[in-house]
Amino acid sequence: MANAAAARHVTEDRSIRSSGIVLEPGMPICQMDLPLDWYQEEFKPYAEEYLALESRAPEVVLPWMDSYIRPALDHFGPRLMLLAHYYMGGEIVKLVERYGGKVADSYLLARQAVLHPDTKIFVESAVHFMAEAIAILAAPDQEVYITNPKAGCTMEMLAKEHMVLPAFDYLVERFGDELLGIAYMNTSGRLKALAGQTGGACCTSSHAEKVVRWASKLGKRIFSLPYQHLGDNVARQVGIDPARIFRWPGGLEGMHYVPSGADEERLDRAEMILWGAFCGVHTVFSISQIEYWRARGHRVLVHPECTKEVVAAADGNGSTNYLWNEVMKAPAGAKLAIGTEAHFVKNAREQGRLRGVEVVNLADIPEADRGSAGCGCATMSRNDPPHLVAMLDLLRKGTPPSLNRVLAGDVVNERTGWRERMHDADRAALVRHARASLERMIEVTEASPG
Ligand code: SF4
Repeated sequence: MANAAAARHVTEDRSIRSSGIVLEPGMPICQMDLPLDWYQEEFKPYAEEYLALESRAPEVVLPWMDSYIRPALDHFGPRLMLLAHYYMGGEIVKLVERYGGKVADSYLLARQAVLHPDTKIFVESAVHFMAEAIAILAAPDQEVYITNPKAGCTMEMLAKEHMVLPAFDYLVERFGDELLGIAYMNTSGRLKALAGQTGGACCTSSHAEKVVRWASKLGKRIFSLPYQHLGDNVARQVGIDPARIFRWPGGLEGMHYVPSGADEERLDRAEMILWGAFCGVHTVFSISQIEYWRARGHRVLVHPECTKEVVAAADGNGSTNYLWNEVMKAPAGAKLAIGTEAHFVKNAREQGRLRGVEVVNLADIPEADRGSAGCGCATMSRNDPPHLVAMLDLLRKGTPPSLNRVLAGDVVNERTGWRERMHDADRAALVRHARASLERMIEVTEASPG
């Protein structure tokens, strides 16, 4: 029933659209090889073959990948769907599209199980929370796999359930029904469920403004999990007085924090409480970098997970999807400086170059000591070609490792890839609440598309 409710609000499947990425001969497939001992046992034979290939050029890597992936695609047909996020390094984005898969941002990825009820197996090359969001919305006969169970999000790691629960319990006790959780998509299913329990919603960077406006109209006190900078930026957009934003520390500090004295008074006045987790990839950008590229004729576009100063100074800001579309529709001769994840910018630069559009990484200042180089999402890049090949081949053989199966509520150890699963009854309760928060996001955003 819940799936049907979510499907009713779907007005378009934007993920169907191709990213427009073109694989050219000579364009390297993978930016960096992982050491063999980074692969789980079942994947090592595939990794050994890959590491022994003479180069990473498409003409060498693709025939090897084809020999495993084509039989798997033939075996499963439309029952199988490959998915990747735009931030994937190793150019997995190029490969996933080549094999008929979809490349999207986290919002569109999350909706794929609902949009494709006839697809029974989803194989995702991205981070865990993205795969888990699909699993939360999936029907019982749909399975979700991640190609590398060690691929986690560092922002999510600063807001694990055991860190957030003491704050959540404190705030519920203090404010009761007034409190409404908004969980950024980059959270575990467990935090999405906490938001759902309060009648709250999830949000992504594309839809955070709509969701926060919706919550403000309800007159609620918002607990934003865990997006410190995006939360700051959205608060500015919707006109929340900065004096009425309360910053709760993130990570372990947040777990032990208890407001007292003047902090308690500020908390009581707060309209929005921001959990202090952030994405290191998006905090390397600065005003001086913006000034540098603007002086050279570049239009500066950034992701809203950058700091509020950077977002305010840029020429435009928006989600991953927005940034990609801006590159793909820019006319020949246009010059763009982009402030977001470095693999995304690298892919955008290659695709822009093919159409005469110059794309630079906002953090890449040629002159020394003017800025740090842009940073890639290193954890997401742990999904490389051997992981994709091994996952698909083992699925075809009927022996997929259970470590790669993603179920709602799993707690993942990003160092070992080990996952702790919930009991079925607990998982059912978690899915109910987490799904409610995801479906509320879909309702709020689809009610006012654009
Ligand atoms: S870029 Fe940052 S927020 Fe996005 S998945 Fe990577 S660590 Fe998480």
